[in-house]
Order: sequence, then C-alpha cells, then structure tokens
Amino acid sequence: MPKSWIIKDLLKVSADYLKEKGIESPRLTAEVLLAHQLNIDRVNLYLNFDQPLIEKEITGYRSFIKRRVRHEPLQYITGHKEFWSLDFMVNPQVLIPRPESELLVELAVSLINIPAVFENLPPKVLDLGTGCGVLAISLAKEIPHARIWATDLSENALDLARRNAKKHGVPDRIEFLQGDLWEPLTNQGIIFDVILSNPPYVATDSYDALPPEVRDYEPRQALDGMRGGLHFIEKIINKGFDFLSPGGWIILEMAPDQTNRALELVEQSKGYGKKKKIKDHSHLDRVVMAQKA
Ligand code: GLN
Repeated sequence: MPKSWIIKDLLKVSADYLKEKGIESPRLTAEVLLAHQLNIDRVNLYLNFDQPLIEKEITGYRSFIKRRVRHEPLQYITGHKEFWSLDFMVNPQVLIPRPESELLVELAVSLINIPAVFENLPPKVLDLGTGCGVLAISLAKEIPHARIWATDLSENALDLARRNAKKHGVPDRIEFLQGDLWEPLTNQGIIFDVILSNPPYVATDSYDALPPEVRDYEPRQALDGMRGGLHFIEKIINKGFDFLSPGGWIILEMAPDQTNRALELVEQSKGYGKKKKIKDHSHLDRVVMAQKA
C-alpha cells in the first residue's frame, strides 16, 4: 500500500472494490463519491490526478464507499440528484427522482404551450405527491406564467421541496400544501388545467423483490401503491375530473403493466373524453393521460 494515496490510485482501487461487491457503475460511483468528499466537480479529479490526499479525506471517502456497498443509494450519500437538467437536493424522506418522470414535465409543457388552449390566462397546474418537488419546480422554471400547486402527505418532503424551490428561484410560484392527494384543496374552488402525478405505484406483492437500494432505503410511503399498485392511480382517475377545467388533462406515471387497467378506469369513470398512453425513452408504456370532456 502506498504511503500516501493520490487521487488516481485511490479511484482505481475503490472502483475495483465496488465492482467486486457487485455495485453498478463502479468507476463512476468511485468518482462521484470522491468528488463529493473533496467538494469539487468530477472533472477536477482528472485535472488533479496526482494530488495526494490527507487522512481525513481518505477516512471520509472510505465511509461513503462502505455506505454504497451496503446498497445505500448514491444520491442519498451525496444528497443530490439531477432532474430536467437541474440539481435537486434529496434525502431519505423522499423518493429519488427517476429520469422517466421527466416525461411528465415534457407532456405538461407541450400541452400548456398549445397557445389556443390557455390563451393569455395563467395555466394552473397541480402536482400530487410532489416529494422533493421536481415536477412542480421543473414546470415553474419551464413555464414562467404558470401558477402551480403541489401537495404531499409528508411534511418532511414538503420542507425539502420548499428548499428546492428556493434554490431554483421559484419559491413564490408554487403553493406547497400538506395532505393526501387533493385533500388540502377541497372546498377551495380551484380548478386546474393540468394535474400531474407520479404516485406510489409499486404493488405490495412486488415490494420485497425491489432492489435493496429501493426497498431498504427509499420511503415506502412514496412507493407502495397497495394491491396491484393501483390504489392511488385509481383514486386520482376517479376524482380527477372534479378538479379539472373543461379540456384540462391529468397526466399519470405508472408501471408499464398498469397502463391498460388505468385506461379502463378512465373509460369507466365517464368524466373524460380523450385518453392516451405514452411510452418513455426506454420504449415502455409509462404514462396515461386523459382529458376532461
Ligand atoms: N419507478 C419507481 C421504481 O422503479 C416507482 C416509482 C413510484 O412508485 N412512483 O421503483
């Protein structure tokens, strides 16, 4: 073992170790964690390849590597996750945003940008189960004239979402409310042009089979969609049109094998006209949309 470690050697040794322990993307993980420990950008590791590290840095880094080997998600260790090209703070109180959820933002943006639909009125958007706030905040950034409401059952999640909104300069554009789905909005008389949600949709039966990163570390409350995983999706579909303006849309993320059932629920609820399902960038059915008749 060399007397003092330099960045290059430490990365090599730790990437090999992560690989041996079966951790995904071992080299990238080693780099992200070392950059986090040193509080520098990842490219700077390469610019300082021969820099020796002090003992405190090595000890801190080693503890990050150990946590990752125990399957703690990388993003909970660093406290950050990128979504819609923005940097968001995350913690174990919230689900780590997934890239497929960017599709919800894309779809909402394309609906709102049809000029004939919302004319000059500010479009009103509701994000149900906002977590760390990625959908609401990305939309606030993308559509400067939109008015946005976001709810979550978890006060801890909302606290983080509010901090993320502040970080991205949109704290006054989003009304964060604590409660189950639209419960905090009942009797307020607000109707929305777009309601979007990435609700918990993992079937309880499949929970134990989730990767340990998800099962053992992410909040169950944000993942477990009860029997068939459809509990919240069904609730949203069955009541959504009460909160939609005529011509307004709900946009729901779900598992690919839930989309047909969701379309049936849309049909049965009679409150909607047009409906469609949309594939994510991995070509999996991921989103169901329905328009209030
Ligand atoms: N996509 C998540 C997963 O892979 C589930 C997200 C959710 O339940 N909203 O586990």
